[in-house]
Amino acid sequence: MAEEFAGKVALVTGGASGIGEVVARMLAQQGASVLVVDLNEEGANRVAGEIGNAGGKAAGFAADVTDADRMKAAVDAAVEQFGGLHLAFNNAGIVGPLGPLHETDLEGYRKLMAINLDSVYYGMYYEIPAMLKAGGGSIVNTSSILGLVGVTGAVPYVAAKHGVTGMTKAAALGYAPQGIRINSVHPGYIDTPLLGNLSEEWYNGLVAKHPIGRLGKAEEVAELVLFLLSDRSSFITGTQHTVDGGYTAQ
Ligand code: NDP
Repeated sequence: MAEEFAGKVALVTGGASGIGEVVARMLAQQGASVLVVDLNEEGANRVAGEIGNAGGKAAGFAADVTDADRMKAAVDAAVEQFGGLHLAFNNAGIVGPLGPLHETDLEGYRKLMAINLDSVYYGMYYEIPAMLKAGGGSIVNTSSILGLVGVTGAVPYVAAKHGVTGMTKAAALGYAPQGIRINSVHPGYIDTPLLGNLSEEWYNGLVAKHPIGRLGKAEEVAELVLFLLSDRSSFITGTQHTVDGGYTAQ
């Protein structure tokens, strides 16, 4: 099969681990040049280096996605190094404070909102002008099942991810006529470092919430992300796509 993303330039945030890492690798395997953006500089460079060793094109870029200036610098770096920007996966995120709302650490709340929500805004803020220059593009933002439904004890995460859902829809409307499609993905619980070291009881409790009877894999989310970034999804914009083993069908 021909390389689907040949000639395309992609920016992936949270690209040093989990879902972002797999998306970065798969995009490069399909011919894209990928800027791997992450707070974890060593991790970003490792992923980019491994892509290069496998014959792909990638560069690591250290950035805190809550720093708008660094997001601008990331977009500039993609354009300078690879000649433009066509695809973006705004994906970096954390779990943040858990527990009853009135006991939440407020600093933790602000940090969570900055990483999981503000960063998506900053990302699109700088990616969109670059994509307009390139004649169009496709953006995928990582929300969650918790951007569609609530759960007890994670109000900040649920709020930020619902924000990503709304931001995606509204932004998509504005740029649809100009050839930029913007969609969100909504994974169920996915086996990545984000989940941390769960006790067996906790892990089994999460599994039980998914009718498919297991947690998801980063690869299963990445398949959906690549579809939404590709021209195969050319009539899809402003929409929410679950990849959740049946979680939200209940
Ligand atoms: P991982 O923890 O595996 O990867 C997230 C990456 O983002 C890490 O490399 C992390 O770096 C990086 N990161 C964290 N904070 C920042 C920051 N401020 N600036 C730049 N990079 C940062 O998580 P996942 O792959 O699981 O998660 C990716 C996205 O998917 C997140 O938005 C998450 O909310 C969402 N999601 C995940 C689900 C899951 O069950 N795993 C379910 C639904 C949605 P470091 O390791 O140094 O912190």
